[in-house]
Amino acid sequence: MSTAIINISSLVTNDPSLGEGPLGLIQDAAVVVDGDRVAWVGETSKAPATDNAVDAGGRAVVPGFVDSHSHLVFAGDRTAEFNARMSGRSYSAGGIRTTVAATRAATDAELEANLTRYLGEALRQGTTTFETKSGYGLTTHDEARALRIAAAHTDEVTYLGAHVVAPEFADDPEGYVALVTGEMLEACAPHARWVDVFCERGAFDGDQARAVLEAGMRHGLIPRVHANQLGHGPGVQLAVEVGAASADHCTHLSDADVDALANGDTVATLLPGAEFSTRAQWPDARRLLDAGVTVALSTDCNPGSSFTSSMPFCVALAVRDMGMTPDEALWAATAGGAAALRRTDIGRLTPGARADLALLDAPSHVHLAYRPGVPLVSAVWRRGVREV
Ligand SMILES: [Zn+2]
Repeated sequence: MSTAIINISSLVTNDPSLGEGPLGLIQDAAVVVDGDRVAWVGETSKAPATDNAVDAGGRAVVPGFVDSHSHLVFAGDRTAEFNARMSGRSYSAGGIRTTVAATRAATDAELEANLTRYLGEALRQGTTTFETKSGYGLTTHDEARALRIAAAHTDEVTYLGAHVVAPEFADDPEGYVALVTGEMLEACAPHARWVDVFCERGAFDGDQARAVLEAGMRHGLIPRVHANQLGHGPGVQLAVEVGAASADHCTHLSDADVDALANGDTVATLLPGAEFSTRAQWPDARRLLDAGVTVALSTDCNPGSSFTSSMPFCVALAVRDMGMTPDEALWAATAGGAAALRRTDIGRLTPGARADLALLDAPSHVHLAYRPGVPLVSAVWRRGVREV
């Protein structure tokens, strides 16, 4: 069964060989979807015959967003903490423990229902691929449980036992690292693709973070790192050294950090929802892009520091406050996220790619930044099926 989406005012393919500029833009375009794949893209007047046609009516189509960083297996609420912070208190990593207590107390069904709710929210805003992590269990049982629940919804599952030292190990952080790299890892590795660590003052230092990542790699997991969010530290350079797919946050960077990213294979994933929601300094996307670093944008959706599931909102912030052009931000939220997940089948609309796309109620992708906060995503196809 093939379907043509025709009369697209502006189609972002993310393949410069197919259209104009780095986004490979095609005007008056059509996309032909066959099964779960893109079969053809080009001008509507040249589209091949198909079983069905959908008229986009002069609106824009973009690849489905790839949200490569979220924390969606959790329970509870941190409204009070947010309210306090917006009244002048600064954010520290310890707030995670509030969510840990609520998550441990929740049933599997409650965690599943919460995850499903936020996934639905993200899908309605155009997200067709998401990564999500454990990290609110911090026991072998609760971390493995979180990963099992996540794995039922996505292939991009990350073991983050090293989110913060478990409260039971407050006086013995090395004992907790031994658990995270030992018994907990054994139980979690079968359910995950990635291993992650929060390398930050108040969480895990460089040596501890390296131990976590290297242990994960010995179990076949690929590293990614929460790095340089709250201050300068060893996270970014460690990420590049171990060949991590992504260093996430990258808010406080030295020139050596930027050089390391520019000369390595690690994507810099920027999470402006976190800076927005904590009133923190913005990451400098312009500095990274000018140095030649591959940049991704993601939501970091979590109940503590960034409770947004909206990739269009992150695009708008990146353009307004982080020095990205609308084209760069759209690329980072689609192809950039795919790069951060080492995927070539998503984040682009090219023949053979997965048929994941969003129809915008706007003539151009630029409107995602030009019209912040407006729900512009009017239809979403995932794996060739219209879901929204
Ligand atoms: Zn995070």
